[in-house]
Order: sequence, then structure tokens, then C-alpha cells
Amino acid sequence: MAETEIVVVGAGGRMGRMLVQAIHARQDTRLVAASEHSDSPFVGQDAGELAGVGALGVEISGDAASLFRPGRVVIDFTLPGATLAHLELAKKSGSPMVIGTTGLDAAGREAIRQAAQLIPIVFAPNFSVGVNLMFRLAAEAAKALGESVDIEIIEAHHRHKVDAPSGTALGLGESIAKALDRNLQDVAVYGREGHTGARERQTIGFATVRGGDIVGDHTALFAGDGERLEITHRASSRMTFAQGAVRAAVWVSGKKAGLYDMGDILGFEKNRG
Ligand code: NAP
Repeated sequence: MAETEIVVVGAGGRMGRMLVQAIHARQDTRLVAASEHSDSPFVGQDAGELAGVGALGVEISGDAASLFRPGRVVIDFTLPGATLAHLELAKKSGSPMVIGTTGLDAAGREAIRQAAQLIPIVFAPNFSVGVNLMFRLAAEAAKALGESVDIEIIEAHHRHKVDAPSGTALGLGESIAKALDRNLQDVAVYGREGHTGARERQTIGFATVRGGDIVGDHTALFAGDGERLEITHRASSRMTFAQGAVRAAVWVSGKKAGLYDMGDILGFEKNRG
């Protein structure tokens, strides 16, 4: 069986360790290299030992530049600044990338779009199958309920999460806004305080909860007069994201340059929303 060779950058992080486990669990993937930033205490450690799957003979490097090669897929769940630096390395080396990092600003997302003209990139705010199905269901609900409901997106995550609202909540908002021919930037309301005035129907509200070890909950709420519909997804383990990302790495290996998302990997029709 052909093996997809994978490099995990940020291999000491919560997702990095899960990715190493998920790669190890498959027959058709192999971890060939791993990195952390040069000051990390994990540099020099075996990536498999750190992830709890036993020694794999892959030492965590503090120098990502030496690890990128054309035939290797890079999986990146790190921080926006690190992801953009890795993107430059991938462009130079021709390595396909799977990017799960959230919290990238508009310029960062544009840099990914530009890089995708040169290399194949799978970029998704959420790599779980259930969440990607939820994007579609929420878009369908928005189309059917249209202007008759108020739409709110509620998300909850663990106390360590550094960006808000979550990339998934924003992705859900994009999917719903697109289905309704609204521009999310124009209609999003991020939190409310004080005398806010009455709610405007066109808006899409976001509410953020942070605490404990919540892996990731998302609800799309469609509230009308006399009834409301809630579509909820709850992730109970980060493994669901890691498995989705590794599946994406296998899929993107050998693909032509372009920007892909989880819908492509799952075979959803392109015309979402
Ligand atoms: P985390 O535990 O903080 O992991 C990030 C890792 O990247 C840390 O080990 C960090 O090291 C390391 N890092 C920082 N700069 C680096 C560099 N220049 N080179 C290599 N490694 C570097 O965070 P996490 O919970 O794993 O989440 C990581 C990202 O994935 C976040 O943006 C999160 O929102 C996103 N995420 C996406 C999905 C999805 O499905 N798309 C799912 C879960 C999480 P230090 O700690 O030493 O800085």
C-alpha cells in the first residue's frame, strides 16, 4: 500500500500530538518529520513518545525549513504567525499543506489563497465530518426559514482557546450568510452589552462561552415566532479533528495546486449555501 508521508509542525501542541496518534493509527500514512519553534522544550524529543504512541524515531526539530520536501504533506495546527511562515516554506519546497489553524486575519487568509495558486492546500476551520455536515444543514435551514427567523450562533470551547468567535462559528456564519445572500461582514454582531436596542432581523449574532475542557460545541439557532430550531454539534475528542486532517492529507497528496476544503474531501457538491 502506498504511504502518504506527513510532516507535523507544532507537534508538541494539543492538536499536534493528536495528529501524531492519528497518523500512527493508519496503515497508509507515516510520520516522517515533526517540528516545534526553536525555543520549545519539546525540540529533540521523539514525537511518538510525546504523543504517547511509543518511540517512532522522529525527533522534533526546531528548524522546519529543513523538513519540507515536495512529496511530503505538511499538517499545520499552530498559530497564525507560524502558519504563515510555514506557508512560505511550503511554497518554496512545493509541499502540499493541510491547515487547521484558526484566528487568521483577512491578510493571512489572502496569503493562503495566493499560495494555493502554487501548491495544493486544504484549509478548513473544522476538520470533523459532523461539523461539515452541519454547515450544509444550517445553510438548508436558513434557505427554508429565510427572513422569518432570527439567527444566532453559539459556541463553547476550553479555557485555553485564544481566538473568538471560533473559526468554526465564523464558518457556520459564512455558510448561513451565503445561503441568504447576506454578507457576513455587514450583518455579524459579536457580543452585546448595555442598551443595544431591539434586534434587527438581518443580523447574525455570535455568542462565545469559554471554560474547562470543552472540546468544541456549536449551535445554530433559528428563532421564529412560536417555534425555534437548533442545530447542534458537540465534539467530545480532538481526535475527530485529527482524523479528518489526516484523511485530508492523504487526499491532497498528488493533487494539483488549488484551495480545497473539507467539503471537497467528503465529496460534497461545491455549490454550498
Ligand atoms: P496549542 O496546544 O497551543 O498548539 C499549538 C502548537 O504550535 C504549540 O505547541 C506551539 O508551541 C506550536 N508553535 C507555535 N509556534 C510555532 C512555530 N513557529 N513552529 C512550530 N510550532 C509552533 O493549540 P491547539 O489546541 O493544538 O490548536 C492549534 C490551532 O488549531 C488553533 O488555531 C486552534 O484553534 C486550531 N484548531 C483547529 C481545528 C480544526 O478542525 N480546524 C481543531 C482544533 C484546533 P508553544 O505552545 O510553545 O507556543
